[in-house]
Amino acid sequence: MEYLLGIDLGTSGAKTVLFDTVGVPIASHTAAYPLRQPRNGWAEQDPHDWWRAVQETVGAVLAESGADPSSIRGVGLSGQMHGLVLLDAQGHVLRDAILWCDGRTQAQCDEITDAVGRERLLSITANPSLPGFTAGKILWVREHESERYERCRHILLPKDYIRYKLTGEFATEVSDASGMNLLDVRGRRWSGEILSALDIDPALLGRLYESCEVTGAVTHAAAEATGLSPGTVVVGGAGDNAAAAVGTGVVDTGKAFTTLGTSGVIFAHADQVAIDPRGRVHTFCSAVPGAWTVMSCTLAAGLSLQWFRNNFCAAETEAAANLGLDPYELMTAQAERSPIGANRLVYLPYLMGERSPLLDSDARGAFIGLSAIHTKPDLIRAVLEGVVYAQRQCLDVFREMGVDVRDMAACGGGARSPLWRQMLADVYGCGVKTAASAEGPALGAAILAGVGAGVYGSVAQGCAAAVRSGGVQAPDKTRSAAYEPYYRLFCELYPALRGSFRTLAGL
Ligand code: ADP
Repeated sequence: MEYLLGIDLGTSGAKTVLFDTVGVPIASHTAAYPLRQPRNGWAEQDPHDWWRAVQETVGAVLAESGADPSSIRGVGLSGQMHGLVLLDAQGHVLRDAILWCDGRTQAQCDEITDAVGRERLLSITANPSLPGFTAGKILWVREHESERYERCRHILLPKDYIRYKLTGEFATEVSDASGMNLLDVRGRRWSGEILSALDIDPALLGRLYESCEVTGAVTHAAAEATGLSPGTVVVGGAGDNAAAAVGTGVVDTGKAFTTLGTSGVIFAHADQVAIDPRGRVHTFCSAVPGAWTVMSCTLAAGLSLQWFRNNFCAAETEAAANLGLDPYELMTAQAERSPIGANRLVYLPYLMGERSPLLDSDARGAFIGLSAIHTKPDLIRAVLEGVVYAQRQCLDVFREMGVDVRDMAACGGGARSPLWRQMLADVYGCGVKTAASAEGPALGAAILAGVGAGVYGSVAQGCAAAVRSGGVQAPDKTRSAAYEPYYRLFCELYPALRGSFRTLAGL
């Protein structure tokens, strides 16, 4: 028996899964770690916590499976993107990592835009300068903690710190590096122009690989610490969504997945670099060599339904507890009693402001068209539909950019609902299948490990061997046509209300 190991370094915890070479999970273990918020809007984690969680979870899957460590052909890493890890000359952590969701760097992002030029930055890194991305965090540390910055010899992304602990190598790979604002995304190399404009020494950055390339091997010290076999290869791996794309088989033209988690993500494969000149969606290098990906993020997808449940569905929550059901199932069953268009009610899901495609932190949620005839089923249906329209608006940006999407997979908690999946299919106008594996990013990382270790000939072959998907829900022409005028109206509402949202924010 041969195995592949996927390690996914999430924001709430590390998940390690041991797979066989046809993608069946043999053992899985998760260990949580804390998120620190030293100030409002800041978000940090201690890289030592990540390493402890990796040691614990690797040890647990080895113990649970009884697998011989030498039968593990390779290790793949995936994880939260954009975070900043700083190490000194001895490889010691200089400060807590500043995470993707940390919002302290708007001033540094403005500096970056001024130093490089907005259009130049977009054409090189394929993205505008964003507070989530790594470059602004580097400048922040240099400006606010200069003494620490002077001692810094290595800058790493979160999962690449685990690579360093496993292999002793300072390295990264193109998919994750795409979220730093420092990579020439078209050329898949560090941008000398940007590094020099920002006065960042290129020697600080890790060596750059493709996601399926071998970046090193488990050292004796790491073998001792984890139970892995010394010499086991560790491949580049990928950022969380890029790894999930591999784990759901989104590795060819026309394929994409939609995640209805707390936030909503669409992640599509692209054969060529496609950049939105308005920066409404992100473009990254794919984990597939020679390909790219386009990604949108809406902030309150599943969160919208969760908000409605928490505030207006105490009865459903209690009934569900008595019946041993999930309250969301009772809520979506009610929504099925309301027709398409929710009796002329439209919901805007901007509970947290909006990222893609509006880029407006002042945007706010709304029910438009409320009347005395409306009932709770209409409101729930409107919430489900509004979340889907917001995804469709992102998909329309992809289509505008020439990214072809014909084959969609659905993931995340919201994809459990057949009604929500069918809405996606009808409103997108393409088939929507369920991802069979709940292990998306860890499976993707393991497949990349299999490619690097020579188990599979390519990422596509690895996906063919190891990824299974559930049934497909096809779009229905009549329903698609019925949704269309509501979708058009949805698109008109934000521009009409933008000024009011701004006024509201100023009150
Ligand atoms: P996260 O992004 O935080 O990891 P999940 O992927 O678990 O979250 O998604 C959580 C969301 O999924 C919830 O907020 C809810 O909107 C939605 N959800 C979970 N279960 C169901 C269900 N059975 N039907 C509809 N929506 C659901």
